[in-house]
Formats: sequence, C-alpha cells, structure tokens
Amino acid sequence: MILLIIAAKLGRCRRFCQFIGGPDLKKTKIAGFCIPSMALLPILCYPDRRLHTVAKPIAGVDARVAQLVRDMLETMYDAKGIGLAASQVDVHERLIVIDVSQERNQPLVLINPELVWTSEATHLNEEGCLSVPGIYDGVTRHDEVHVRAWDAQGQSRTIEAQELLAVCIQHEMDHLMGKVFVEYLSPLKRNRIKTKMLKAQREDAR
Ligand SMILES: [Zn+2]
Repeated sequence: MILLIIAAKLGRCRRFCQFIGGPDLKKTKIAGFCIPSMALLPILCYPDRRLHTVAKPIAGVDARVAQLVRDMLETMYDAKGIGLAASQVDVHERLIVIDVSQERNQPLVLINPELVWTSEATHLNEEGCLSVPGIYDGVTRHDEVHVRAWDAQGQSRTIEAQELLAVCIQHEMDHLMGKVFVEYLSPLKRNRIKTKMLKAQREDAR
C-alpha cells in the first residue's frame, strides 16, 4: 500500500517539470532563459544567479499584481508545470501560483505566503522544477503544512495542505527565499546538474 502511494506521488511529482525538451517546442535564445517560445513570461533557468534573489513582500493587490498573477498562471499552464514562483520569472516578489488538479482548472494564488504550521512527519518526494528542466531528485518535505496568504483578491486565508499540494507549496516557497530544490542535494550532484544545465544552455544558444 505504502509503495503504491509513493509510486502515485512520484508519478504526480514528475509533472513539476514536464514542460520543455519536446522536439516540437521551439526554444527562445535569450541568454539565461530556457522557455518554450509560446510562454508568456520567460522562465529563468538554473544556475542563473537571479534565482537566488530573496523576494520582497507585496504591499497590495493592484492592477499590476493582478496582471502578474494572470501572466504567471498562463505561463505555468503553458509550461505544463504545477507551480511557479514569481522569482522564476525574474520578479522578486512574494507570489506563487499552483495547480495540482488533474483537470488543470483549480488555480491557487498565494501572495505573501507564510508557513504557520508544519507537521513533524516528513517524506522523501521526487521533485523537478521548471527552472531545472529534465532533472528529478528526492527532497524531504513536511507531509502537511498550513500556510497563510492573500488570494488573488487580496483576502487573507489559511490553507491546510497535504501530499502533493504540501510538497508544491514548500518547493515554491523555497524559490521566494532564493533556494532551488537542487540545493538540497549533495555538492557533487549539484555540480553535475549545474554543468549539464550550462551545457544545454550553450547548445540552445547556438
Ligand atoms: Zn521550482
């Protein structure tokens, strides 16, 4: 039973990063970005230093933030990701968008998210990231988290998240702190990934 649950979780988690590399997708050739040409906002690609910027709080939901939310959702759906942090589109403000539904019709917008509770229980999950295409590895996360955030209308709410949603929230909140999931891996693995990413970016730029 446990194995089945883990397998199911791994299957879903793979969707973190199914977005690029298909032969039918043209990639743009902007230095430091790895994106399908259809994406509305370019996604920064690891090891771009801008991914390590700590995001600032958003003062209020105005027209600019509402537009950013729309653009990020469109970009996330286009890239077939289940989560996207503003940091990944080079906007260093505390905003994340998520949709872990199978139907891809349940967008979740978290502005200024703060973890208010985390479970003691943790689990090793396989993760990927739109900013680290093609790389998947295990990261230990809390099984359940409670997060307080504004929604797209600026209303404060608290979400109790388990399983994939909990993992996704923790992954995206790391981005807001300037942390990419590969930084949980050993220096050896991280360096290999860095080298692989830089090589792929050089080839894409040709
Ligand atoms: Zn990510």
